[in-house]
Amino acid sequence: MVEDRRAAMEAVLRKQRSAHHQMRPEPMNLRRDRIERAITLLKKHGDDLCKVMAADFGNRSPLQSMITDIAGTANFGKYCLKNMDKWARAEKRHVQFPLGLLGAKAEVRYEPKGVVGILSPWNFPVNLSFGPLMQVFAAGNRAMIKPSEFTEKTSLLTKELIEEYFTPDECAVFTGGPEVAAAFSELAFDHLVFTGSTATGRKVMEAASKNLVPVTLELGGKSPVFMGESADFAKAGERVALGKMMNAGQICLAPDYLYVPESKVDEAIHGVWEGTAAMYPSLLDNEDYASIVTDRHFDRLQAIVADARDKGAEVIEVNPANEDFSNTNARKMPLTILKNVSEDMKAMQEEIFGPVLPVKTYADIDEAIDYVNQHDRPLGLYYFGQDSSEGEKVLSKTISGGVTVNDVLFHVSMDDLPFGGVGPSGMGSYHGVEGFREFSHARSIYTQPKIDVAKLGGFKPPYGAATEKAVKTMMK
Ligand code: NAD
Repeated sequence: MVEDRRAAMEAVLRKQRSAHHQMRPEPMNLRRDRIERAITLLKKHGDDLCKVMAADFGNRSPLQSMITDIAGTANFGKYCLKNMDKWARAEKRHVQFPLGLLGAKAEVRYEPKGVVGILSPWNFPVNLSFGPLMQVFAAGNRAMIKPSEFTEKTSLLTKELIEEYFTPDECAVFTGGPEVAAAFSELAFDHLVFTGSTATGRKVMEAASKNLVPVTLELGGKSPVFMGESADFAKAGERVALGKMMNAGQICLAPDYLYVPESKVDEAIHGVWEGTAAMYPSLLDNEDYASIVTDRHFDRLQAIVADARDKGAEVIEVNPANEDFSNTNARKMPLTILKNVSEDMKAMQEEIFGPVLPVKTYADIDEAIDYVNQHDRPLGLYYFGQDSSEGEKVLSKTISGGVTVNDVLFHVSMDDLPFGGVGPSGMGSYHGVEGFREFSHARSIYTQPKIDVAKLGGFKPPYGAATEKAVKTMMK
C-alpha cells in the first residue's frame, strides 16, 4: 500500500522535474500567475477552508482562521508578487584586480532549484502549506505538498482545490498518515521544507540526507518570555495572554514560559489572568476559543499539569465564569498557570504547545539569561521592559530564531523578516528575501576575457617568474 503511494509520488516528482527542465528559465509571468491562482483559491474558498478547519479542531473560530490562515497567507502572496522581480534580479559581483579592466565579469543568478517538497503540520494547516508555496513559486519551482493527517478534512479540501487550480506538474498534494509522510520525506526532491516538531524534524533530515536533499526545518521548542523589572505588567500580561490563548496555545512561537523578577511574580500572573479573562470571559461555549486538536494532544496537556501539581507547583486556572470542564468532550482547556515550577517537571522539559503557562522567577536577569543559554536554542524569544540596556543585554547574550520586544509572536507576521529557528528549533528560513533565496540556487557565473588570464596570473606551467610574482602579491 505505502509502496504504491511511494511509486505514485515518485511518478509525479519525475513529471514535475521534466516539466521544469522543459520550461527553463521558468518565466516570471508564469510564476506570478501561479501565485495569483493561489491567492484566488484562498479568496474564493477561504470560508470553506475555515469551516473544515473548525470541523477538524472540534472548534476553531472561523474569524481567527480567516486572519491566521487565509487573509495573512493571501497577503503574503501579494508581498511576494510585489517583490519577486527585485529578488530575482541577477547581482553583479566584484572580480579581483585587474580582471575587471581586462573585461572579466562575475554575477550571481538566483535560479529555481526544481521541485520542492512541503511537509506541513496541523496547527495552521493552510498557512503552513500555502505560505511556503508562495515563495516556492516566486523562486520558479514546482511543489509537492504533504499536509498533516490530524487535520484530515482540511488536507482533503486542500488537495481538491489544488487539483482545480493547478496542473499536477505545477503542484500536487498527497494525503496520508506518518507512513506516507516518511515515504514523502525520502523522495529525491531538489529541496524539502518541513514544519513540525523537532523529533520528526530529525527523522526528516535523516531521510533527506540519503539523497542529499537540502532541507528547511521549521521546528518548535520552548520560547521564553523575559519580563524585566521595568515592564508594564498589566500590558505585558494582556499581550502574553493573546499569544498564549490564540489557537489555544497551539502555536510554534507561543510564549512557552515566563521568567519574571521574584518580587513581581504575583503582579505578572495577575496581568496574564486579567488579560485572559478580558478576552475570554467564558470558554466552553465561546467560539473564539479553539479546542485542543485531538484527545491525544489533550491528554498530554492534562498530564503536564498533573505532573506539575504532583511535584509541588501551584496550579492557577483562569476560569472566569467558573465553568465545569470535567464533563465535556469539547477538548477545551482553560489557561493553566503553573507557579513554583522546577526542572524535574514535564512542563519545564517539553514544548507545551497548549494553554499551560509555567512561571519561573529570577533574582537577577543574568540568571534567566544563563538558564536559557543552558537549554535548546528557542524558536522565539520575548523581552518586556522599558530598560533598553537590559533588553539589549538579553538579546545580545542569548541566541534564538527570532525576537519580539514588548510583545510576543509579532515578528512572524512581518513579511519582510526571515522566519526560522536555530539549532534544535530549526534551520534555514522563509519570508523576506531570505525565503526566495532559500528556494533558489545562487548560481555563480564568471565570464573570462579574451586575454590569456591563466598565463598572466602565473597559473599556467611552466611555473616561473609570473607564478612567484602572483604568490608574493597574494601573500602581501
Ligand atoms: P509533527 O512533527 O508531528 O508532524 C508534522 C508533519 O510531519 C505531519 O504532516 C506528519 O504527517 C509528518 N510526519 C509524521 N511522521 C513523520 C515521519 N516519520 N517522517 C516524515 N514526516 C512525518 O508536528 P505536529 O504535531 O503536526 O506540529 C506541532 C509541532 O510543529 C510543534 O513542535 C510546533 O512547534 C511545530 N511547528 C513549528 C512551526 C514553525 O514554523 N517553526 C509552525 C508550526 C508548528
